[in-house]
Amino acid sequence: MTNTFVVVGGDAAGMSAASKAKRDDPDLEVVVFEKGEWVSYGACGLPYYIKGEIQSLEALVSVTPEEFREERDIDLRTGHEVVAIDPDERTVTAESASETVVQSYDHLLIATGAAAVVPEIDGTDREGVYTLGSMSDGKELREYVARARGGESFQQPDRGPACRFLEDCTGPVGVVGGGYIGIEMAEALAANGFEVNLFQRGDRLLKGFSEETSEAVADHLREEDVAVHLNASVEELAGGEAVEAVVTDDDRIAVEMVLLGTGVRPRTALAEDAGIELGKTGAIATDAYRETNVSDVYAAGDCAEATHVVTGESVHVPLALSANRHGRAVGQTVSGQPTEGGGVAGTAAIKAFDVEAARTGILDHDEARAAGFDPVTETVTAKSRAGYYPEGGDVTITLTADRDSGRILGGSLVSEYGEGAVHRSHAIVGALMEETTVFELENYDLAYAPPFNTTWDPVLVAAKVLA
Ligand code: FAD
Repeated sequence: MTNTFVVVGGDAAGMSAASKAKRDDPDLEVVVFEKGEWVSYGACGLPYYIKGEIQSLEALVSVTPEEFREERDIDLRTGHEVVAIDPDERTVTAESASETVVQSYDHLLIATGAAAVVPEIDGTDREGVYTLGSMSDGKELREYVARARGGESFQQPDRGPACRFLEDCTGPVGVVGGGYIGIEMAEALAANGFEVNLFQRGDRLLKGFSEETSEAVADHLREEDVAVHLNASVEELAGGEAVEAVVTDDDRIAVEMVLLGTGVRPRTALAEDAGIELGKTGAIATDAYRETNVSDVYAAGDCAEATHVVTGESVHVPLALSANRHGRAVGQTVSGQPTEGGGVAGTAAIKAFDVEAARTGILDHDEARAAGFDPVTETVTAKSRAGYYPEGGDVTITLTADRDSGRILGGSLVSEYGEGAVHRSHAIVGALMEETTVFELENYDLAYAPPFNTTWDPVLVAAKVLA
């Protein structure tokens, strides 16, 4: 009898699982339900589409629905929302505009992702208030930008300060949230001539990065004419039918549009209704193979928890690589080769105009102490390339290690765009995943040539200072 693998959600985790399972076991029947029309899309590219650097939404799609159906022999049903899972009967119920389907499964993967959080403040339902969590959100935002610019077609904006390359500024607009989506959207809007106000509740942007990285990014945004409002708790989005102002605890700033970049929440309702357990983070709890408490039901990607490689704790880190990796591992498992997808280190990167930054592991001392470490941190700034080489800049690296063992716990890096903060973070990721000490990192045999770094790469300098 044919085994059936059913997947709920047709993006990173879901389509990685479906493709891997079918490739490894061509006899497996693979059915994917996706409630929207888009599958296998790169939401990560949406800010650059809205900015105008990427010309079509289609460019963000890696494999089309037709390719999945015709070339990969996957029964992909777009426009089908799964509304119930019955673990006793081993069925899912999906609804489309024209039918209700009850589909049985032998293995089931929940890959429903996460939804953009809308904060509980007045005015979020006003016209002109947007979130950016889906392809359709991206389309609406790009249309907004084009409309606001008087229907002008998108140019390829230079990476110059806001308004510098346009005759007239448009806006003002508000971006609520100083995480990576908020910052990428601040750039996308500013590059299109909008006067951007970025509101962050806490005292710095990019909370999970080092303070030095947060400050460098905030300083650079200001240089690019983005008004960065720190310690600004947004209390209301005021206006009539349309939004007209962002009201904070001590200010009122006129805006014509607001982008909410206030985080994401795992989509877990379907799992909860089926009796599937959530973890303490609120995402779906799984074992190392991504199996939930219900046998043969798996969960992967932004809807699920994963294990942190440094602390061993269950965490919710909604990022693309782990969604792909864990989805692929589930595909391999259900096709007969049980596979763990590995842990997560919270590794993330961001570009903000002409600055790039990355972070990995545990930098927060309270978090490190809670995990039983005695954290110590040092920050160094070093040259990105040989001093005599015509180009180059600084790289600032913050490294955290355990005082007793010297084990690397985390790192945060920032440099000018192109000066290697993000690529250098990979050495630190490798070190912390292998439980390497600063003394060992100091002796890493890294490549050197003047156009790329100094003889002692800044990562080695940081390890040396901390050792
Ligand atoms: P999703 O991509 O959310 O896919 C879940 C799918 O399930 C959706 O298509 C949804 O329609 C479908 N679905 C939900 N419920 C149902 C149901 N009941 N029935 C049927 N279908 C359902 N990550 C990075 O690592 N780096 C970045 O630079 C980065 N940038 C980003 C920028 C933006 C603007 C956004 C929004 C995200 C970004 N991310 C980034 C995060 C990354 O996109 C996600 O981690 C990744 O897409 C998660 O994949 P997933 O398959 O778990 O979930």
